[in-house]
Amino acid sequence: MQNQQKIRVAVRIRPLLDHEKRQGHLNSRIDCNGQEVIIKEERNKKSYKFDHVLPETASQDQVFKSCEIDQLVQSVIEGYHVTVFAYGQTGSGKTFTMEGLRDDEGIAIKPDGIIPKTVHSLFNKIKQNALQKDFSVYCSYLQIYNEKIYDLLGETTKTSYNVQANGLKMRWNVRDQFVVENLFVYQCKSAEEVIQLFKLGSRNRITASHKLNFQSSRSHSIFEIKIESIDLKNPDYFITSKLELVDLAGSERISITGTEGRQAKESIEINKSLMTLRQVIAILSDTNNKTIPPYRDSKLTCLLKQSIGGNCFCLMIACIAPLDTFYDENVSTLQYATKAAYITNIPVKNDDPKLKIINDLKQQINSLKLELSKANEHIEFLSNIVQKKDNNQNMNNVQTRSNFDNMNNVQTRSNFDNLLQNQQKLLEVESSDEDANKFEYTQFNDRLIDSINMVRELLLSNKEMREREEQINQKCESMYREIQFLQKENFELRERLGDPDQQRESPQKRPSTIKKNTMMVEEPGFLPEQMTQFQRNFQKDFRDTPNKDYKDSQMQMTNRNVRAHSQRTQGRQLPLISNYQQNFEEVQQDEMTNFGRRSLYQKQLK
Ligand code: ADP
Ligand code: MG
Repeated sequence: MQNQQKIRVAVRIRPLLDHEKRQGHLNSRIDCNGQEVIIKEERNKKSYKFDHVLPETASQDQVFKSCEIDQLVQSVIEGYHVTVFAYGQTGSGKTFTMEGLRDDEGIAIKPDGIIPKTVHSLFNKIKQNALQKDFSVYCSYLQIYNEKIYDLLGETTKTSYNVQANGLKMRWNVRDQFVVENLFVYQCKSAEEVIQLFKLGSRNRITASHKLNFQSSRSHSIFEIKIESIDLKNPDYFITSKLELVDLAGSERISITGTEGRQAKESIEINKSLMTLRQVIAILSDTNNKTIPPYRDSKLTCLLKQSIGGNCFCLMIACIAPLDTFYDENVSTLQYATKAAYITNIPVKNDDPKLKIINDLKQQINSLKLELSKANEHIEFLSNIVQKKDNNQNMNNVQTRSNFDNMNNVQTRSNFDNLLQNQQKLLEVESSDEDANKFEYTQFNDRLIDSINMVRELLLSNKEMREREEQINQKCESMYREIQFLQKENFELRERLGDPDQQRESPQKRPSTIKKNTMMVEEPGFLPEQMTQFQRNFQKDFRDTPNKDYKDSQMQMTNRNVRAHSQRTQGRQLPLISNYQQNFEEVQQDEMTNFGRRSLYQKQLK
């Protein structure tokens, strides 16, 4: 990742003022220990940890040193944007911390705050770097009140607030920044010039608050020092950076100031910037919150966009007036300060556009390298998995094995070679896996199609068999009827012949294997050997008949009938049984075939 930097947070607890002590105010609830601010509550103790905690006794010098502001100034010299802002309720010591001691009229009488110290530090560093770089320093000073931007260093200070009645406009520039239009910017050659301008602006701030009828604590002020540096050895190397020193309006709640109704509404509108700032801090501090911070909702957050969650080094100084009466305000200040400490900025060196492009490209290269190495790791990881899989399965794929063998040389090759090799191996392994899968899939498909075809065949043959069975049944039916008819005819004939004993001789066996609609021959016809017996009986019966002609004619008639009957029964009956047997065998065979197919199909499914 790029050079990430959390917003540094310092908490300064101011001492009780003389008049507060006289009024009997106490500090019985706020204490500090090292980097911790402790809230002593009746039931449970709360403690907040910060980068820097400055107790009541801390001097301005100690604040400057503890907050490592010198390092921030060094960053500005190197080309980074830096922001220092003071946050806290009215009277908590923001202006005191930023500017220094003021008299009762608000005139700075001891310029020992962060701003004057920073300006001196800046010019000291400029002096130290004078042989390498040529620096130019520019100052501007503005305040935001009721969502309007006023120039505190306007040319005609007496009339400027009338001219600026609607405030200065703000626009979005190509460098992804909000800039205030027509804001006076002064070039300064020394720290004194800058401090002088700052004092002038601060005085104007108070004058403006009188003219516009508001307390100066209700406006936000931004003192901006812009630094341009040109490398003397390489004049193309041009850097611009800025140092923003911000004194915010009081963060007190409306209930404390006693404003109600319309005034309260006005107060909310006036502090819209502060409210938006709190929202931005809350959103940015919560990494799970993907909401876009509402920078554009207020002038202050627009101008501090780079400072909070942007590309600046940023220091927040949360000021606390430790009076017991301000307990809620102090807890709120500590909570916002804690949130701010979670915000990550990515400070970026502000080189000139050409260098910026080069640096951007370098950064891109770095990030691509990083991605590449990650991809490399990922590929190696995947390769290892594939290798393990290969080892476990003991694949016989020679190509794959040779690829894996190659992997033992991974350590000795360059990263790029490794990447190519690994990719190659992965592709090959993947393709061989794919082939195996494809083969399996085709096999399975073929088997499935075979099975479906077999089922279809089975169904078809079943249908055919059913139809054939139906036909056989019909044939059986008609034959049975014919047999019945013949039996009846036989019976009549036997009656006429007078040999009833012959009729039940050797009844024909039924084919035992045919169950349904098979031969139902109750009175089977005579078979040829029975005929001879019949003839013998007939001859015996008519042996003693005196009338030879009658005997002969009867004999001839009987013979004729027997022959005719024999022809009818033999000619039909025998083929009938053989047909049955044939059909039965066919059905049996079909059933066997079906059974075989079924069992084969079941095997294949398994
Ligand atoms: P704010 O700007 O937050 O409204 P000020 O900076 O005006 O508050 O401070 C309010 C009062 O407290 C001033 O009279 C200031 O001189 C005093 N004060 C603030 N901080 C300190 C401090 N650390 N030591 C002594 N006096 C302080
Ligand atoms: Mg103030």
